[in-house]
Amino acid sequence: MEEREIPAEDSIKVVCRFRPLNDSEEKAGSKFIVKFPSGQEENCISIAGKVYLFDKVFKPNATQEKVYNEAAKSIVSDVLAGYNGTIFAYGQTSSGKTHTMEGVIGDPSKQGIIPRIVNDIFNHIYAMEENLEFHIKVSYFEIYMDKIRDLLDVSKVNLSVHEDKNRVPYVKGATERFVSSPEEVFESIEEGKSNRHIAVTNMNEHSSRSHSVFLINVKQENLENQKKLSGKLYLVDLAGSEKVSKTGAEGTVLDEAKNINKSLSALGNVISALADGNKTHIPYRDSKLTRILQESLGGNARTTIVICCSPASFNESETKSTLEFGKRAKTVKNVVCVNEELTAEEWKRRYEKEKEKVARLRGKVEKLECELNRWRGGETVKIEEQINLVDDATTPVAAMEDSIIETNNIGPMPATPALMIGSTMSSEERQKLEQEREKLYQQLDEKDEEINQHSQYVEKLKDQILEQDELIASTRRDYEALQGEMNRIQQENESAKEEVKEVLQALEELAVNYDQKSQEVDAKNKEMESLSEELMQKQTSLNTTASELQQLKDMSTHQKKRISDMLTNLLKELGEIGATIGGEGADLKISNDAAKLEEEFTVARLYISRMKSEVTNLTQRLHELEGSQQDSNRKVTEYERDLSDCRLLISQHEARMKSLQESMREAENKKRTLEESIDALREECAKLKAAEQVSTASESEKKEAAQLRAALEQQVDQLRDVHQKQVAALRDEIAEKQQLINDIKDSNQKLTLTQQQLQADYEKVKSEETEKSNKLQELISTNERREQARKDLKGLEDTVAKELQTLHNLRKLFVQDLQARIKKAITSDDNEEDGGSLAQKQKISFLENNLDQLTKVHKQLVRDNADLRCELPKLEKRLRATMERVKALESALKEAKEGAMRDRKRYQYEVDRIKEAVRQKNLARRGPVAQIAKPIRAGQHHAIISGGNAVRLNPKVVNNEDTQKRKSIIVGGNKDEC
Ligand code: ADP
Ligand code: MG
Repeated sequence: MEEREIPAEDSIKVVCRFRPLNDSEEKAGSKFIVKFPSGQEENCISIAGKVYLFDKVFKPNATQEKVYNEAAKSIVSDVLAGYNGTIFAYGQTSSGKTHTMEGVIGDPSKQGIIPRIVNDIFNHIYAMEENLEFHIKVSYFEIYMDKIRDLLDVSKVNLSVHEDKNRVPYVKGATERFVSSPEEVFESIEEGKSNRHIAVTNMNEHSSRSHSVFLINVKQENLENQKKLSGKLYLVDLAGSEKVSKTGAEGTVLDEAKNINKSLSALGNVISALADGNKTHIPYRDSKLTRILQESLGGNARTTIVICCSPASFNESETKSTLEFGKRAKTVKNVVCVNEELTAEEWKRRYEKEKEKVARLRGKVEKLECELNRWRGGETVKIEEQINLVDDATTPVAAMEDSIIETNNIGPMPATPALMIGSTMSSEERQKLEQEREKLYQQLDEKDEEINQHSQYVEKLKDQILEQDELIASTRRDYEALQGEMNRIQQENESAKEEVKEVLQALEELAVNYDQKSQEVDAKNKEMESLSEELMQKQTSLNTTASELQQLKDMSTHQKKRISDMLTNLLKELGEIGATIGGEGADLKISNDAAKLEEEFTVARLYISRMKSEVTNLTQRLHELEGSQQDSNRKVTEYERDLSDCRLLISQHEARMKSLQESMREAENKKRTLEESIDALREECAKLKAAEQVSTASESEKKEAAQLRAALEQQVDQLRDVHQKQVAALRDEIAEKQQLINDIKDSNQKLTLTQQQLQADYEKVKSEETEKSNKLQELISTNERREQARKDLKGLEDTVAKELQTLHNLRKLFVQDLQARIKKAITSDDNEEDGGSLAQKQKISFLENNLDQLTKVHKQLVRDNADLRCELPKLEKRLRATMERVKALESALKEAKEGAMRDRKRYQYEVDRIKEAVRQKNLARRGPVAQIAKPIRAGQHHAIISGGNAVRLNPKVVNNEDTQKRKSIIVGGNKDEC
């Protein structure tokens, strides 16, 4: 450790990485224009014949692991040993910067430098001595348009860069997250990345125009000797280094690009100035990026620049400029020393040492002054007497370095080469200048802070404006909705008002009508009263007539009785008729009871109607039967005609048969005669034979006899032949006749059979006919009966009607009589007063008519009045309801307005409250309140203690467990709080 205390000059390490040709380049037919000269070193490349030398050159096929091992790994131990470290990637967009720095976190083969470094740091810690305590915190921010935006707290949008007491620049107010395991670091990175994504629309474009800075701050304390070391590691993914012209940017994009280029050109300028070596002023303050990287460039940091390039011919010029940048950066020298906080004892020791050194140097200065005086006095000092400057280790440069150590022991100091380069200025002037510059820087810082505050305030105000806008929009919407509602309500109100108006008008009309009617009613009432008085008088006379009426009533009851008797008789008859027709007449019981008369009468009517329907049925049937009778008659005549034909035929056949029998008899006779003649001839023949026998003597006789015989024989033969012929003919004739007879007999038989059948049919038809005629006769008789009954009924009805008519007449007569009597009574009354009875009568009738009309009108009016009365409360109710509705709507409107106001106030209050809370939170986050330290123990694998719960263990408990192991990593600022 001791030798590390001496600051070492260390040039910035520059490694160059070429990515493979990408798809678009391959498609565009770009050529691979970079050559890697063969050799073991792998540290040079040539492009277009120009060779560049770097600390390391990675070919496109170089793995992430190789890049990490050879370019970044050594930094881990440096950081843990208390040095500052920086790795940043420089190159045009899509040259592989993010791939190199970040890669795919969590993928063992594709993860880049940051995740590997994080894992390595923790692994180192776990493998270190036990008495070491670590505090690790991370910050993540991006620089865009020269504004620093905290990626772990989106509300911090414009952070400023300040210098700490050791004049080391740092980002003031940046969120520092204490971490105790790689997972927590990755979580922070993820959070930062997601915040970065949320803030912008096009991430690719944004990432190519902004620098992202990930800072790991490692503090360690040796618990044995209280020695404290701290190392800061900046991991920077720069914006694309391409020229603006290439991107074809315009407008704001161009401004943006220029701004980015500004910070990158500031970086280039810083590098150039540092590379120059003669420049006294390094323009760190030109941009925030260079300000942050001040320590990393020419300061107290081990810095590695990874320049990322594309090997494609298309990107040749950019690749070349990137390589030039790397070349320049390679010449920059940093002065590196350990950031150590010394203990009091060490300070004391160092003080003694320095005191000694000062005394020695003072003696030497005195000696030198003596020598100088001698020289100035014109003396020549011999070489032996001259003070040996080479011998002495305390050369001015060494002294200066010592002084640097001193300052570094307090804390790292901006070891600008300008300070180390000897200047011709007097020390006083320099001091003055230094102080002035100091002051100016301080002012600058203050201004920065102010700007930061302002911009944060602006941001807040912007947020507020947005919120307000939203609120306004919502209230406007509400207002519009309310306005709509109000319009609707007003419309409703209008319509309701109109309705009310109409109703009122109707009411008025009604009231007017009512008044008129009531007046009329009054008038009529008066008339009525006078009339009723008259009526009263009449009433008394009426009472007298009432008794007469009673008498008449008695009479009428008597009449009624008579009528009922008559009706019962009639009904009885009807019942009988019913009995004869329907056989159900038994049901009809004639009641003498006058009360039941009506009922019975209706029953009788029913019977009559039934009978009517039956009669119609019967007539229908009669018609049918008549039709069928005609049919059968027709059939009978047809059959008769057939029968007569048959008879004729039979008689013909019989005649023929007779003639045939006669001819047969003739033939028989003929036969007999012929047989007789044959017998006669045979007799003659026998006689002749006997004669022959007798007269055999005489020859002559013989001869004569022979001749005769011959003649006779001849005659006989002839006769026989004829006879035979005749017999044969007769026989044929007989056979013929027989045949004919047989035929005729057959036909006769047939005919007789048919005749018989016809006869039977005829009989049947006849019997049917008779039957039908019988039936018809019956029906006709029943019909006649019915007809009779109907006629009777009609007669009955007529008589009933007549009776009723007479009854009516009687009633009329009675009424007339009554009226006459009343009139008589009245006239008799009137006659007493004055003689004008006719006029009086007329008047009375007129009055009566009037009264009738009036009563009618009165009734109508009363009805109208009642109707109106009924309607009036309804209308009033409606009116009241509409009024109420209007009122309710108005109140609702008022309420809605008030509610809107209230809501608005509430929103305002809520917004204020939230803002206050956010402000408080921010203050709390930023404020000096100590962070909760998360102790992690060295010598244990992080997996055991990683994770929120394990980390939040009570440190005392942890300490009890490992009392011997006094080695721990404290992540956080305040150990005591653990
Ligand atoms: P930059 O950050 O410089 O704009 P990126 O790191 O995003 O570029 O790289 C652009 C693309 O090229 C990414 O898809 C990345 O995976 C790929 N890439 C970059 N370098 C390499 C490499 N060495 N090997 C393979 N792919 C790479
Ligand atoms: Mg990138």
